[in-house]
Amino acid sequence: MLKNLLKLLFPDTCCGCKSLLVKNERIICTHCRHSLPKTYHHNSPEQNETCQKFYGLLPVEFSCSFLYFTQNNTVKELIHNLKYRNKTAIGKELGILYSMDIKDILSKHKVDSIIPVPLHPKRLKERGYNQVETFAQTIAENCQVAYNPNILYRKIYSKTQTKKSKESRQMDKVNNFAVTHNKEDEGKHYLLIDDVLTTGATLESCGNALLQIPNVKISIITIAYTLS
Ligand SMILES: [Zn+2]
Repeated sequence: MLKNLLKLLFPDTCCGCKSLLVKNERIICTHCRHSLPKTYHHNSPEQNETCQKFYGLLPVEFSCSFLYFTQNNTVKELIHNLKYRNKTAIGKELGILYSMDIKDILSKHKVDSIIPVPLHPKRLKERGYNQVETFAQTIAENCQVAYNPNILYRKIYSKTQTKKSKESRQMDKVNNFAVTHNKEDEGKHYLLIDDVLTTGATLESCGNALLQIPNVKISIITIAYTLS
């Protein structure tokens, strides 16, 4: 009863375009789902724009971004809601959609474990959640790969990316990340997952930290790729 009343007063709206959701729609409306600007990187997972970001910087087996991020599209709204407005269900929905595209790639490349790019504990406390978590967990579940949020951690607390100058983004290349590992973690293929790929500096830094573990392979997936 109360639930119905609340729904009447505050009906569910699409997290991408704010239009009212109709019956059987959840989180993202049908129109937004069908018009998501997909990159189709998964059609050539070893050679695409995302891979190019890491050429000569980090050896990656494959890398793909799901969607294009521009200043005025649905993706910007979805990421903003996911990151700052506690709408973690968006990550799950996008994870369900992307799992269908990449399941075979993960299986072909024998990915052992999925690692979300970690937040610094101080940032995690401020935000209350890691915005990448639901997306990464859903992909792990749907593709039947282990989920391992404990191996990689962030050593340095830094301001949010948007407030940073170009110079301080360069500082990300100084290793902000470290790993805690044991013998069992050696020789594995790790899939790093982040929300938005812009310069690639954060993922490069994460990858380099993981490469401290003997004989590991690295691959990368992000929710969105920033078009500049
Ligand atoms: Zn919509």
